[in-house]
Amino acid sequence: MDLLKYLRSNILNLKPYSSARDEYSGEAMVFLDANENPFNQPYNRYPDPLQRALKARIAELKHLSADSIFLGNGSDEPIDLLIRAFCEPGVHHIIQIEPTYGMYQVAAGVNNVAVLKVPLSAEYGLDADAVLGAVTPDTRMIFLCSPNNPTGNALDEGEMIRVIQGFDGPVVVDEAYIDFAPGKSLLSRLPEFSNLIILQTFSKAWGMAGIRLGMAFAAPEIIAVLNKIKYPYNLNILTQSKALELLQDSASVENWVETILEERTRLAEALSGISYVEKVCPSDANFLLVRMKEARKVYEYLVGKGIIVRDRSKVMLCENSLRITVGKGSENETLMEALEEYAL
Ligand code: PMP
Repeated sequence: MDLLKYLRSNILNLKPYSSARDEYSGEAMVFLDANENPFNQPYNRYPDPLQRALKARIAELKHLSADSIFLGNGSDEPIDLLIRAFCEPGVHHIIQIEPTYGMYQVAAGVNNVAVLKVPLSAEYGLDADAVLGAVTPDTRMIFLCSPNNPTGNALDEGEMIRVIQGFDGPVVVDEAYIDFAPGKSLLSRLPEFSNLIILQTFSKAWGMAGIRLGMAFAAPEIIAVLNKIKYPYNLNILTQSKALELLQDSASVENWVETILEERTRLAEALSGISYVEKVCPSDANFLLVRMKEARKVYEYLVGKGIIVRDRSKVMLCENSLRITVGKGSENETLMEALEEYAL
């Protein structure tokens, strides 16, 4: 596979750790191979290192084969693993849009990989030519995020495809908020692009941020690399079993998403009526980026009232902006009452 030529040579040549459960994964009468304690069942046993049962269920849900799925401790895990797999520290760099989710830069920084930032337009649109124009021979990965955090908007699909087609190396499209967007995921287009890696998570629409479960979808050859370099037992048995249980209830997820979208509309309208609010950015996610006069003061006022939002004022193109997660109706009302009471 062509993309594998971009792997760091130590990763390409790495012989992975082989755990007891890798070497024998079937049923047995007695397990005496993993130095486990025979007492305190079921917590005494190591989890399935490849999360087969969970992947089988997710494969059904996403209409994908299980070997196209990597599961991690949040989507933050595959972000870090991908950078480690493809970028030589101190030599290669990644390209990201700006502003965007902060973990790409942190994961790159931990790995001593530089970050080249390509600003979005004033309306937070993606310019494929600008991204492709920034590519050099040392570019090893491009990160796109759609819907984007903290701006909330989905990126134009045509522009994203132009980036994927115009760059030979891996392009990561982070779709953490895709369930709140009217447009479709790029997942159905995965077979067309061998360099496309899609990230999704159970932390948002599925309401499982606390159990830490993120997904990467890509060609099986790429997934095999991530499996090779991850911690052998990266997902514990509690996460695997709880996720399997919660995944049976996709009807609740649909209801939550519908409610959150209704609340988002209501909240956006109410915020637009606040005198010191200058702009409520259009959102395809479960949060709103809101530009206002003296955002830091408003933030501090809200903290004083026990209401915590995110101050994004120091982020490029987000000056004087607060990022507000759409909560339950009652939570949004509490926020609105406080904002209405606030006088600059
Ligand atoms: N991607 C984006 C764009 C996010 O905003 C977040 C969380 N804020 C994540 C990924 C991380 O998700 P997880 O909980 O799966 O690590």
